[in-house]
Amino acid sequence: MKVGVLNIQGAVSEHIDILEKCGAEGVPVKKKGDLAGIEGLIIPGGESTTIGRLIREFQLDREIIEFHKKDKPIWGTCAGLVLIAREIEGESPHLGLMDIRVRRNAFGRQKESFEGELFIHGLGEEPFTGVFIRAPYVTRTGPEVEILSSFQGKVVGVRERNLLATSFHPELTEDLRFHKFFLKMVGEESSPKVC
Ligand code: GLN
Repeated sequence: MKVGVLNIQGAVSEHIDILEKCGAEGVPVKKKGDLAGIEGLIIPGGESTTIGRLIREFQLDREIIEFHKKDKPIWGTCAGLVLIAREIEGESPHLGLMDIRVRRNAFGRQKESFEGELFIHGLGEEPFTGVFIRAPYVTRTGPEVEILSSFQGKVVGVRERNLLATSFHPELTEDLRFHKFFLKMVGEESSPKVC
């Protein structure tokens, strides 16, 4: 299974390493055409304003929107969550794919970077270590959006059909469960459907 990782900023190699540990092939995606043959896409963290500007400059934004229209799964981590959100408080959206509103850098200055134990719907009883780095959280979810995880009462993990988004960075832990969860979404989409 070939999964693309947007290679503009952030923990690209960490995502690729975990994908490979899970038995998938992680492919860096940087320019137009790189999404050919890719079954799912991860948009890593970084600075959403910079990544947003560069995907427009590299004309990748249209391709990612087309990729989504073909029902191929996309997972945004941290800045990736901001990039796929339909609304960003006080700013214009970037890809505008998921029916959520987000607040950037939302946990406050004292909490620039921290870890927290999370319970994630669908990942079992074992807590998941959430690594948060100048993290956003979700302030509105549309009717089709499933809340997978909250931290201190704030929504930090969501899914809407083939879109997955997390405020935290599973690629910065040794825990493979989130990547396996995404690969399952990718596998379900790419295998032939029984009508
Ligand atoms: N604060 C960044 C943003 O809003 C996200 C930080 C991250 O990806 N670790 O774009």
